[in-house]
Amino acid sequence: MFFWTSCLMSQSAVIEGIIIPNNNSDIEKLSSISLYYNSKTPKLQTVLIETDLSFKFEYIETDTISLSIPGNREDYIFPSFYLSENDTIRLKLPYSYYCEYDISKNDKTCPICKKKNKVIPVEFGLFINDPKKAYNMGCLITDCEPNWYCKRDKITF
Ligand SMILES: [Zn+2]
Repeated sequence: MFFWTSCLMSQSAVIEGIIIPNNNSDIEKLSSISLYYNSKTPKLQTVLIETDLSFKFEYIETDTISLSIPGNREDYIFPSFYLSENDTIRLKLPYSYYCEYDISKNDKTCPICKKKNKVIPVEFGLFINDPKKAYNMGCLITDCEPNWYCKRDKITF
């Protein structure tokens, strides 16, 4: 009995967080947030987001974890992080329901010079193609990333 109790206590990391929406119109779409364990047996914990946009996960096991919110196109996944025993983590999570880069998906016109002739696609990953043909941004972090790079103005959009 004592052993069982101490096991339970070693899994008591807590995350307290608050969502910071980019647009006030996104608030009504925030209802729940989910927690995934990255290396343990796939398991999902979901809690409700309160009306003040706060949330709390309790009894979290030690692991690298990810948090996600159901989004417009797919789940909005925040960068994952490691949680150790008895950690209490307080998070402020900036959130946008719509991706600002959606509008440029099918339009490679640069918002600065209004031209297309120096614009190349943005790519993600470790394998780098010819830098003249694509602009490498490293590993993909979120599902909302720029689509294009203007070589004239050195901006992504
Ligand atoms: Zn440009």
